[in-house]
Amino acid sequence: MKLIVQKFGGSSVRDAQRIRNVAEIIADTYKAGNKVLVVLSAQGDTTDDLIEKAQEINPRASKREMDMLLSTGEQISIALCAMALEGMGLPVVSLCAWQVGIHTTAVHSDARITKIEAERIQRELDKNKIVLVAGFQGVDRNGDVTTLGRGGSDTSAVALAAAFRADLCQIFTDVDGVYTTDPRIVPDAKKLPAITYDEMLELASQGAQVLHNRSVELAKKYHVDMEVVSSLERKPGTKVKEVVNMEKTNIAGVAKDTSIARIAVVGLAHNPGVAFRVFDLLGKAHINVDAIIQSIGRESSKDISFTLPRADVEEAVKVLENNKSVLRFDHVTVEDKIAKVSIVGAGMMTTPGVAAKMFEALYDANINIQMINTSEIRVSVLIDEENATAAVRAVHEKFFGGED
Ligand code: ADP
Ligand code: ASP
Ligand code: MG
Repeated sequence: MKLIVQKFGGSSVRDAQRIRNVAEIIADTYKAGNKVLVVLSAQGDTTDDLIEKAQEINPRASKREMDMLLSTGEQISIALCAMALEGMGLPVVSLCAWQVGIHTTAVHSDARITKIEAERIQRELDKNKIVLVAGFQGVDRNGDVTTLGRGGSDTSAVALAAAFRADLCQIFTDVDGVYTTDPRIVPDAKKLPAITYDEMLELASQGAQVLHNRSVELAKKYHVDMEVVSSLERKPGTKVKEVVNMEKTNIAGVAKDTSIARIAVVGLAHNPGVAFRVFDLLGKAHINVDAIIQSIGRESSKDISFTLPRADVEEAVKVLENNKSVLRFDHVTVEDKIAKVSIVGAGMMTTPGVAAKMFEALYDANINIQMINTSEIRVSVLIDEENATAAVRAVHEKFFGGED
């Protein structure tokens, strides 16, 4: 008997009809003789709506209370879906993270899973029940509810698949797989039959929201057999795995991220330890920085620029300003009308000229590059936000245009 983890995203459980559709997929998997462990997201735009409600009451609400609020969306989904399965005469139980024992760090709104207790879920599976678990949420050592970051239900699913050594982890969503870029931006993007963990991790980290990046990280670490499939059409999706036979193209895809900003700390002393102090302070405030550039200014001062999630800008500026006397900089500037566009592909390690081809596409589209940042299998450029969609189209066309 196999254990299959199935995760359904917000659009897949949007309304009563979609919940019934999800219940049917789960029921079919169960009736085929599998044990089924299900993770659900909040319905449709519930999480965004809850954020809006909070804004109306207190735009500076604490992250703890935000987690109390946002975690409710997933609880609604699991209860409703359990009711649909009950209505079909199937044995089912829905569980919140605190009932399961999904332990996380205490970093509200961006908590990491530290441990999953097996006992409760195992007991229910042993009773032949379908188990529905609320995604996105966890519980910290004080018993407080935490959330894993936007899109985090994918990570709940993979973590459960790893903890229970599931035979397969299926991520059901509103697209039928991972494409060479967001099919909503480029309608003739191509579906990938398979993609490596490393490439998927880069794509997800660079803004392809089809999978939460930490879910891919976990899948790679624990060798979880993972696939992205449609909840609306029953057809093969995209397998995410260790090795993929990439014969034709050396680029797996193009991603864009418009949720970032750039901060420049201007007029720092050109001494050893300055970069350490800046990023140590930001790290202690749980702020993840991405691309970093240091440039030498006039009179042996230096500037340090870095990109970070737009949501963290206020906090980052506060941390820097509060430590101005220690860091001794002149001023801080913030640029938030920027975007990052990236190409990702394991093949670029062995193929020269890939970056040049990307830059040529941007040049032809008359798009100016502000910053460039690379990894072994990725090239990212920072550009004006207003050019982001045009850049994705131009770069995608350059690498994938003319293919069948
Ligand atoms: P869910 O609610 O199921 O978690 P998401 O909205 O988080 O779904 O992710 C699915 C969306 O990701 C798709 O609707 C699509 O617009 C977007 N997307 C971005 N990049 C890609 C890509 N490379 N391949 C497929 N979908 C992508
Ligand atoms: N409901 C959460 C969100 O909208 C988690 C998820 O969908 O994965 O971010
Ligand atoms: Mg998602």
